Amino acid sequence: MRILLVEDDDALGNAISRSLIKSGYAVDWAKDGNDADLALYGQVYDGVVLDLGLPKMDGLEVLRRLRQRKILVPVLIISAREGVDDRIQGLDLGADDYLTKPFKLPELEARLRAQIRRTHQVTSSSVDFGELSLDTKERYVTVSGERLDLSQRELGVLELLILRHGRVVSKESLIENLFNWDEDVGNNAIEVYVHRIRKKLEPYKISIRTVRGLGYMLEKEIEP
Ligand code: CA
Repeated sequence: MRILLVEDDDALGNAISRSLIKSGYAVDWAKDGNDADLALYGQVYDGVVLDLGLPKMDGLEVLRRLRQRKILVPVLIISAREGVDDRIQGLDLGADDYLTKPFKLPELEARLRAQIRRTHQVTSSSVDFGELSLDTKERYVTVSGERLDLSQRELGVLELLILRHGRVVSKESLIENLFNWDEDVGNNAIEVYVHRIRKKLEPYKISIRTVRGLGYMLEKEIEP
């Protein structure tokens, strides 16, 4: 899952970014409205955490432009502004939720997860594929009822494969999902994670198929 964080306050931005990264998200951090606007042009995100009072371009303007382009990424506004007007205006412009500063980081993450879940049209908190089950709320995967031991990156790969099961997931979207701007992604990084997940899934009737030139896809092994 890839998140755009838009926040000009260094301390708060750092805290949010660190907490999201620790939870396994890839985080891009824009510190002014212009950068945020540019990022949203060039990249597909799973969620946006948006401050309103920003240098160069107001957060509401960033949001207005985003929705004008019909991009439906969930947006969570975080703002110290107490005015009901801002809140209404933000929601009118297409924000999905609103959190007033100061807030607790776990609350921000919980709201973000709820929004992302809604976007993926997941109503219950788990998505199943054969013996595999992804808990989208707590972000872990079980197979035949047992929790699978995965690194954050492996989880990120498997999570996307489960959420998009039945479809081929391209290597590019996996990379976008896992890495932020600052990270240099080796050519075979995704292959390495897929290899490790395959090993972990070996005892079960689930496999990851490589669709040459296109990407990866989850597959149930059919019993002979
Ligand atoms: Ca601000």
